Amino acid sequence: MSLQNIYDLTYEELNNFIINNCSTDLKKSGMRTNQLWKFIYKKGLKDILHFSNIPDELKNNLKQQLSFKRIDIAEKKISNDGTIKWLLKLQDGNLVETVFIPSDKRGTLCISSQVGCTLNCKFCHTGTQLMVKNLSTAEIINQILVAKDELKDWGTQKIITNIVYMGMGEPFYNYNNVKKSIAILKNNQGLDYSAKKITVSTAGITPEIIKAAKEISTYLALSLHAPNDELREKIMPINKKYKIKDLIESCSYYAKINKEKIFLEYVLLKNINDSEHCSKQLIKLMSKFPSKLNLIEFNAWPGVGYEPSDQETVQKFYRSIKNSGHIVTLRKSRGEDILGACGQLKTESQRKPKSL
Ligand code: SF4
Repeated sequence: MSLQNIYDLTYEELNNFIINNCSTDLKKSGMRTNQLWKFIYKKGLKDILHFSNIPDELKNNLKQQLSFKRIDIAEKKISNDGTIKWLLKLQDGNLVETVFIPSDKRGTLCISSQVGCTLNCKFCHTGTQLMVKNLSTAEIINQILVAKDELKDWGTQKIITNIVYMGMGEPFYNYNNVKKSIAILKNNQGLDYSAKKITVSTAGITPEIIKAAKEISTYLALSLHAPNDELREKIMPINKKYKIKDLIESCSYYAKINKEKIFLEYVLLKNINDSEHCSKQLIKLMSKFPSKLNLIEFNAWPGVGYEPSDQETVQKFYRSIKNSGHIVTLRKSRGEDILGACGQLKTESQRKPKSL
């Protein structure tokens, strides 16, 4: 029987675990949980024998009942621009990708929430891979731990300054595990990422956006990519279920509760969503709730039917939004040469046929 993974437990769950399963004295449990949490999430230790000041009995108890194992790196690629992509092999053999994007001011880790994706956005490489499974909390957290090991980012260092849930999958279709992983990330005894250092990106699952406003309360990014329903339905089938009107309502609510603007992600596709008409519709839409725009240059992948907009169109689109008074940034493509850029992630994992 495989052991439960320690990285599946929140701080409170670990505290309850050592009380209920390791006979830890109630009076000492808080202190012990604190110690354990610091060894795991501040120092990055993965061998319980190296946890000093923990009684041998508790160490043995934990060792018998919990696994501290990291997931394995199957492959690592480094881009010319310093972006690093790790292909990680989960314990069940499935593969998932995690990308580190360094820049002058920050180091951003882009993590996955699912193997594959159900949403089939037409411009996204992950969308061509059938949904295989939701990642467990431990598998989400392990992506950060493995990247921190690789970058030697333990102790007082923080090379990874920001975490974005923008890798493979729709985070809100794995809501509970994503929510738990964010609770672990935010805990200030350990990894200590504040809400403003974490961004969850959604294709627009409106019931979960409403729930997440109070339960997750990080920055929210909405993958918009089209300013009207007709076009959005063509490139993002999820829009058949949740219309732009619903997105405006749920995002307005999220922005109000969290007192922060929503990031709108908009990938520019040649002759699809890059016209002047689209930019005018987008400006109108942005006026309806507090938002700022990330324009993204499209990254092609093998077999895709779209092309990036030409530079003149990109600049024209960018200027029209900027001149309207809205906040807009033009995101440079990173890690394109290793298929590590936005929308390029995909692994070989396949959905297994159901056994009869
Ligand atoms: S863009 Fe996001 S939601 Fe859409 S298919 Fe790709 S991974 Fe899934």
